Amino acid sequence: MPVVNARNLRKQYGPSEVVAGLDLSLASGACHGLLGPNGAGKTTTLKMLLGLIEPDGGEIRVLDLPVPSLARQARVRIGVVPQMDNLDPDFSVTENLLTYGRYFGLKDAAIRDRIPSLLDFAGLNSRAESRIQTLSGGMKRRLTLARALVNDPDVIFLDEPTTGLDPQARHVIWQGLRKLLSRGKTILLTTHFMDEAERLCDRLTIIDRGRSIAEGSPRELIATHIESDVVELYGEDASGWGRQEGMLHADRIEEAGETVFCYTRHPRPLLDALKDRPDLKYLHRPANLEDVFLKLTGRELRD
Ligand code: ADP
Repeated sequence: MPVVNARNLRKQYGPSEVVAGLDLSLASGACHGLLGPNGAGKTTTLKMLLGLIEPDGGEIRVLDLPVPSLARQARVRIGVVPQMDNLDPDFSVTENLLTYGRYFGLKDAAIRDRIPSLLDFAGLNSRAESRIQTLSGGMKRRLTLARALVNDPDVIFLDEPTTGLDPQARHVIWQGLRKLLSRGKTILLTTHFMDEAERLCDRLTIIDRGRSIAEGSPRELIATHIESDVVELYGEDASGWGRQEGMLHADRIEEAGETVFCYTRHPRPLLDALKDRPDLKYLHRPANLEDVFLKLTGRELRD
């Protein structure tokens, strides 16, 4: 049975349908990624799954409980890492964990029992009594993640868990999430980082304008939606060459600014043709999830 199951989910704000008939199903123990451009409806979906926003239509079951009617009961078994760290700046690390645990009706003694393992998980053993203002961005994120585990949840929802972090800090968060998966937890995360989705997620749902437009494992999505190889051409002459020679050898080309993306299943002829143009800068690489995402959702900016 899916841990989270949403069918035909709908939410309207004024004239615009922000979530427009979304289906979502999370397998137990899996990491499921929700990808989509800004405004696609990801956060609204997470909030409806938590029972914090009432849907206009559709059905939700979380851990076999109907939401929103029994959302409170469901939330006891869900950990939440919101997009913005909302730690209490006036409290220490330990006090933040204590206060949060009390929301779940946990006794202080029970929370205190858990605190050492939570600090250990967050790598914050030496900072137990530190004030929040003295922590780095990465430490705050790790604490927010540890805080979401205070009630030992079965499912963890994370809204853009690594936005704003440096590469070192992102890797530490990924390690933490892998540890949770190895303990059998189910994870739902939203992200704008395709490398993060490719590394962590067993399954992905790409949403746009409130609808699911593709679903599958990262590898399935790449194999289904995109050619295997990409040759990126850069610079002033890229466009002209791409439109003439590139078109002859690639299955498809896309232009973005001064870059031409040549998509092909057989890169050799294209690479051979480029040997005659040593002045053109290019990069040959395997197609990735970002190529799929941009093909399906377009390259124009969403603000
Ligand atoms: P995402 O998380 O994918 O960026 P959101 O779910 O935050 O998207 O938002 C989807 C759309 O719904 C956006 O256009 C946003 O402006 C709009 N929206 C979100 N919450 C509200 C609200 N409370 N009132 C009106 N519009 C909202």
